Amino acid sequence: MTGLARTTVTFRVDALLQAGYLVEDGPIREAGRGRPAVRLRVDDHSRTILVADLGASHGRLAVGTAAGEVLAEEVIESSIDLGASMVLDGVSRRFDRMLKASGQPANSLAGVAVGVPGPVLAGGRIARSTSMPGWHDHPVAQHLRHRYGVPAVVENDANLMGLGERTLVHPQAHILVFVKIGTGIGAAIIVDGRVLRGRNAGEGDLGHVKLPGSNEVCTCGESGCLAASASGRALVHTLNARGRDLTSSRDVVALARAHDAEAEEALTRAGRSLGSVLSTVVGLLNPDVVVIGGDLAQAPQLVSATRDTLFAASQPLWTSSLVFEPSTLQDRAGIAGAALMIQDRIFGPDAVDARLERISLNQAPATSTGTRADRPTPPLGA
Ligand SMILES: [Zn+2]
Repeated sequence: MTGLARTTVTFRVDALLQAGYLVEDGPIREAGRGRPAVRLRVDDHSRTILVADLGASHGRLAVGTAAGEVLAEEVIESSIDLGASMVLDGVSRRFDRMLKASGQPANSLAGVAVGVPGPVLAGGRIARSTSMPGWHDHPVAQHLRHRYGVPAVVENDANLMGLGERTLVHPQAHILVFVKIGTGIGAAIIVDGRVLRGRNAGEGDLGHVKLPGSNEVCTCGESGCLAASASGRALVHTLNARGRDLTSSRDVVALARAHDAEAEEALTRAGRSLGSVLSTVVGLLNPDVVVIGGDLAQAPQLVSATRDTLFAASQPLWTSSLVFEPSTLQDRAGIAGAALMIQDRIFGPDAVDARLERISLNQAPATSTGTRADRPTPPLGA
């Protein structure tokens, strides 16, 4: 099928077997002559990945296999405002403990992926943003690569969540828009399974789009932003001004679950604002699917107000076949997307070629200067 000579294929397959990417999975019974055919499969079960989805106020960490199975998962309370060094140190310590407890050998580690609630530039640096003070220009991916010696990716959390929903829940969607509404508001556009990226990593910055008629002051210093009226931070502020003592988006949702009228009303108003801004997005892109996730999307009041406003403000052409729904993967959307992204990196042609090259250097006979032959095989992807 490839048009390659059998010897070429055999050479390449042998290298992949030796490097642990492929394993033989039994002979194929086939009448015929010549060397018997052998079934091969990608060995992703014995490789370990570390993934984290860091939000503004809490995060979720997981140890899994490169096949996507979760071996252990933990939720941490950690404010992103503590800054890059402190947050990453805490995450790494937790990762180390989880990896040890999972029983996976340390040299099985193949990749690390971390989602953050802010814009990420190419190469895994954090762009300047008011949502992540103390992180500006921090080379997070490089930091993780150095610490673990394996490929690392850092990505905006909404992008990861959108990728997770597209791949695992709506694999046929041509255009999927994911909106994360938690402490802040962000969005992702996934086109044919790929994250759509803007020039300066500012894509999906829906929270700072202006909401007509609003002049609420925003954390970005402007006024009238959608997030200044509709984010979890804004709702906590509004309800606290009325004598509540809330600290996070989750407190607002819990209050609405207990049928608190003020919390329900605040979530409904937030949903209307979000739906109104989203109608512009839907008119511009005509997506197949809009998924709404993040803590506030667990409140049915917000989801239905968003849906009602969005559909009322849209042309029938934009919405006649639009699927609008709350996140199916919920709290796990971020780590699911992170796992998909690092799998793609670990098994990508560049990473595979680089590793095969290192192994062949490793196994070259010792030269006059060489100690290479004595070095152990590096972990997958290192
Ligand atoms: Zn703003």
